[in-house]
Amino acid sequence: MFLTAWIEKLARDRWLTTGEYARLLRDRTQESAALLRRLADRERRKHYGTRVYLRGVIDVSSICPNGCVLCSQRIDAECLRYRMRPREILDCCEEAQGLELSNLVLRCGPDRFYSEKMLSVLVERLHRSFPDCTVTLAMGERSREGLEMLYNAGADRYLLLQETAEKNRFRQLHPPPMCWERRLHCLNELKDIGFQTGCGFLVGWPGQTVEDLSMELKFLEEFQPHSVELVSLDADGELLSFLISLVRLILPNALLTAPGAPAEGVLAGANVVSVGVTPGRDSFPLCGGGRVEGPATIDSLAALRRELADVGFEVDMGRDDWNG
Ligand code: SF4
Repeated sequence: MFLTAWIEKLARDRWLTTGEYARLLRDRTQESAALLRRLADRERRKHYGTRVYLRGVIDVSSICPNGCVLCSQRIDAECLRYRMRPREILDCCEEAQGLELSNLVLRCGPDRFYSEKMLSVLVERLHRSFPDCTVTLAMGERSREGLEMLYNAGADRYLLLQETAEKNRFRQLHPPPMCWERRLHCLNELKDIGFQTGCGFLVGWPGQTVEDLSMELKFLEEFQPHSVELVSLDADGELLSFLISLVRLILPNALLTAPGAPAEGVLAGANVVSVGVTPGRDSFPLCGGGRVEGPATIDSLAALRRELADVGFEVDMGRDDWNG
């Protein structure tokens, strides 16, 4: 009974205590999940109707100086290392435009090869070449001056996952020089500069508890990002859907990316699906978002349209602007 009361309270007030979030997660039932999903669906429809936006993600580099424990491209990991030059990135964006993907995400860890000066020229060039596109950067922590330069060049959004909002966990998963205070500082700078700011957390790391997850939800409640990504590390699908619905009730007008199977995520309250457009590469930087299948083709996008249409949603290829 208290589960229903808390879900209704969340839909009304947009917040719960961390203890209430933890109990909702620990004691979740089919009935509480169904109620949550119904209310999340109502909120998403109120703000975005049945439209689902697509984002074309380009993993521009797999080179990163950091050693985050769970990341497949940490400095000491054995993985395919590559770095796309600006010309290659432009070509890739052109291919994405050919597929009518107008929301472009350039993603990597903090690879210093990509100076703010270089990125500013690239962003300006993208807007000149593709006037209807949006450019989201997910390129790690940067200085305020650097971020301002990117904003002034026309970058629409910046995505930087906090990964975990629990300071001690962050320290365990991110060896120095990374630190939670710097991550939070950078997120605050992004909002302050005026970026549509995206953040998110990891679901399914070893030993993660419902108390940890409740801290992540509390962080979103307090930070009020414009967009949210949950990154599944082999997380249970029902738990992921439950979390998506909770996030939708906390942030009714957020752009919320489906973390796994698109139809399941959308039915739980997501309104964005990411598709990969990087040719033959899979860098998956945890600080910049979840794994995406790719590269997208006309056929795979048509299949995605059908999959979403089967559950009552339609793909919108236009700009995925925050409806705030
Ligand atoms: S999570 Fe980001 S910063 Fe950490 S190793 Fe991976 S790409 Fe680098």
